[in-house]
Formats: sequence, C-alpha cells, structure tokens
Amino acid sequence: MNNRIEIVRGDITKLKIDAIVNAANRSLLGGGGVDGAIHRAAGPKLLEECRTLGGCQTGEAKITKGYKLPAKYVIHTVGPVWHDGNNNEDKLLAGCYKNSLKVAVENKIKTIAFPAISTGVYSFPFERATKIAFETVSDFLIENKIIEKVIFVCFSEGDYILYKKLLDDYSSD
Ligand code: ADP
Repeated sequence: MNNRIEIVRGDITKLKIDAIVNAANRSLLGGGGVDGAIHRAAGPKLLEECRTLGGCQTGEAKITKGYKLPAKYVIHTVGPVWHDGNNNEDKLLAGCYKNSLKVAVENKIKTIAFPAISTGVYSFPFERATKIAFETVSDFLIENKIIEKVIFVCFSEGDYILYKKLLDDYSSD
C-alpha cells in the first residue's frame, strides 16, 4: 500500500503526472492559493473550460484538461470551509478525496497528486485534514487497483515534515 502513496514537497503545478487535483471554490472560476497557481500555470484555456462546467458542489469533483500544465488533467474539487467541525466538514473533506479518485478512475488516470485541500484559506485544522486524507485515500487504494500512485504535495517544509510524521503514525496504527 505505502509504495503507492508518496509525499513530496513542492509546487503541484510542476508535476508531470496524469492528474493534479485543484482545491477550487464552488464557482470553479479561479481563486487564490493553489487554485490561482494552477490557473496561472495552465493558461486561460483552463478557465474557458471551467466556465462550461456550471460550478461544483462542496465535496464533489470535476475534471478538465491540463492545457499548459505538465499534468494531463486537472481534477477540481471543492473543500469545505472550516467552521467548528459540526457542519459536516470531515465528511465533506473525505468526499473531496474519494470523488477525485473516482473521477480519476473513470478517466483511466493512474497517477494523481493532491494538495492539502481546505488547509489554506478554508482553515481546516491541518492534522485533522491530513488524517482524513490518508484514511480516505488508503481505503480507496485497497478497493481499487487501477490507481498506481497517489502523491501528496506539501507546499512548505513544515507541512512536509508533518505529513511524513503523520503518515508514519497512520501506517503503524
Ligand atoms: P483551500 O481554499 O482549500 O484552503 P488553499 O489554496 O488556500 O485552498 O490551500 C490549500 C493548500 O494548498 C495549502 O496547504 C497551501 O499551502 C497549498 N498550496 C498553495 N499553493 C500550492 C502549490 N502551488 N502547490 C501545492 N500546494 C499549494
């Protein structure tokens, strides 16, 4: 299992991989953070295709081409905004990972990279979000053998160190 999960530090827009996941907002019309970086790197055609999608519900996922990105596809998912944990945040965040992987399988994608969805502007507590990410992805990979590699991309060194530690903890449980 763990050889199908990898943690890397860096900028998700640089990855040459089948698909990268975008932590988008419900309009799918671009935003800040990783969303802004993906749109800047992909070029204006990405926004053009996003306009045809009619937005996306929180916890769901939709796919576009990657245009000028090294990645072939972008899977846009909408993370929950963190309020207090009593607004279905955990389940919605798990939905982002699960539905992104489902869309990947439907499109014969074998390698996929995720950013730390909802942990930026949407303020989801980082450790709690990371555990949900590992749990959801691990469960999916047990059931599904098509996906060969899932990469978690950490933007900062601190996030990277924490992800590594939490994956070790998670794997030894
Ligand atoms: P959200 O609105 O879902 O919280 P953000 O884009 O604000 O989305 O942040 C999500 C995560 O993406 C944060 O952990 C942030 O550090 C990270 N991030 C921002 N830019 C990039 C990038 N270019 N590559 C990978 N991760 C990024």
